Amino acid sequence: MTGTRDGERDGVGRRETEAEREPEAGRETEAERAPGPESAPEATAPEVVARINATHFPVTVLGPGRRLGIWFQGCPLACAGCMSRHTWDPEGGREVTVGQLLRLWRRALAAGAEGLTVSGGEPLTQPAALAALLAGAARERAEAPADLLVYTGYTEGELAADPARRAAVRHADALITGRYVAARPTDLAWRGSANQRLLPRTPLGTARYAPHLARPVAGRTLQAAPRDDDAFALIGVPRPGQLAALEAQLRAAGTALTHTSWCAE
Ligand code: SF4
Repeated sequence: MTGTRDGERDGVGRRETEAEREPEAGRETEAERAPGPESAPEATAPEVVARINATHFPVTVLGPGRRLGIWFQGCPLACAGCMSRHTWDPEGGREVTVGQLLRLWRRALAAGAEGLTVSGGEPLTQPAALAALLAGAARERAEAPADLLVYTGYTEGELAADPARRAAVRHADALITGRYVAARPTDLAWRGSANQRLLPRTPLGTARYAPHLARPVAGRTLQAAPRDDDAFALIGVPRPGQLAALEAQLRAAGTALTHTSWCAE
């Protein structure tokens, strides 16, 4: 779940005159990839493969503090108004190993990261990879008070009904659940629509997120992250109308956006 007209996660916009290439914000540069079979959901093996859309550090608009953001690729839920249509294709993005993602996590922790936010796409379409990532991230944080937050379009009931999904989020300190519903706007922090629920699941999650359960959004809701292909990613949860206003402001300043992920082609 990543960029909507008014919804969840982050979106991708591109200036009109620039070359088209695949989005690769926060792209890992190491060449190490070890294709491996999907393991059981409890696996922590670093060779488990995840298909992701992007990574970025620091993310400051999807959870408390400065965070590592990892966006999974692939989403079958097709919420109307999703700003992250570029993450829907299950064959899109790129493959990385959980070991590569955990190296990013270690670097982020060393740089003072206060948490990890996993979004998408729909992370639960890859339950083994998500389980391995969260188990490894929980292990790597040691005593650091860095929380693990997962965005999912599935509801609590849909999670509870599926053993693989339940196992995949076992190490999450908090979840934000539910589809993006454009007709139900909200002012609640980090949520794209009023039906979405912020659910602390651990003592750390409660300590970090209980103060925010009913907190209206305040301050900045979006951040722009340059990519290495002259495009840029908008990360965050836009307020209703915010993306349209941004496009209008840029147009007035002489910059038209093309290939925006929050608009159907
Ligand atoms: S769950 Fe909905 S909002 Fe999130 S990526 Fe999928 S379609 Fe978009």
